[in-house]
Amino acid sequence: MAKDRAGAAQRIGIMGGTFDPIHHGHLVAASEVADRFELDEVVFVPTGQSYQKQGQSAAEDRYLMTVIATASNPRFSVSRVDISRPGPTYTRDTLTDLREVYGKDVEMFFITGADALSAILTWKDHDDLFAMAHFVGVTRPGFVLSDQHLPAHAVSLIEVPAMAISSTSCRERVAGGRPVWYLVPDGVVQYIEKRGLYRADAPANGAGY
Ligand code: ATP
Ligand code: MG
Repeated sequence: MAKDRAGAAQRIGIMGGTFDPIHHGHLVAASEVADRFELDEVVFVPTGQSYQKQGQSAAEDRYLMTVIATASNPRFSVSRVDISRPGPTYTRDTLTDLREVYGKDVEMFFITGADALSAILTWKDHDDLFAMAHFVGVTRPGFVLSDQHLPAHAVSLIEVPAMAISSTSCRERVAGGRPVWYLVPDGVVQYIEKRGLYRADAPANGAGY
């Protein structure tokens, strides 16, 4: 539960991602940052159409898996701001929309893995982003966590329990008929199976939506 900070501004974490599918690497990162930064809530924000990724699953499938994975944690929630906005998802729009939802007084912490943090300078309007939220970079196996070239006041780096899991490897496992149990929450394993996601013989882009 949120620690007692009576009268202090609300502190909201934002975990953006494709979540195709959401896995325990995402969940541990969010939980750890929530604890270390005394966040009141972490909002998971599945991307709409990612401008840097192609051929992803239907937004509705990714959204529902994110809801299933986070439902039991009272401090976790899921936002539709990115999937509701037409066109490609840019983090600048995500932060602007969430500021509208939560109000001007909340402190916002944008959580990114080491790979995403090192790519931030390739993001659109990256200069503005650092004024809109504090960025928290977390360790991720296989990537070097560094805030080189990023403004020091706007970025914190923290170590989180190492989870060598990626959505790409989860998709490849399902396509190859191998298990994803314990890499993703049980309900997500069942959802993937129910919807026939990621199977080598499955139609791309989430048939049925
Ligand atoms: P994909 O393989 O499809 O790119 P992914 O596993 O990288 O999927 P994303 O949805 O791209 O997951 O990532 C969302 C955010 O979560 C990014 O900031 C990413 O760096 C972070 N993240 C993903 N997996 C981990 C992990 N295992 N440990 C720490 N951070 C992670
Ligand atoms: Mg990724």
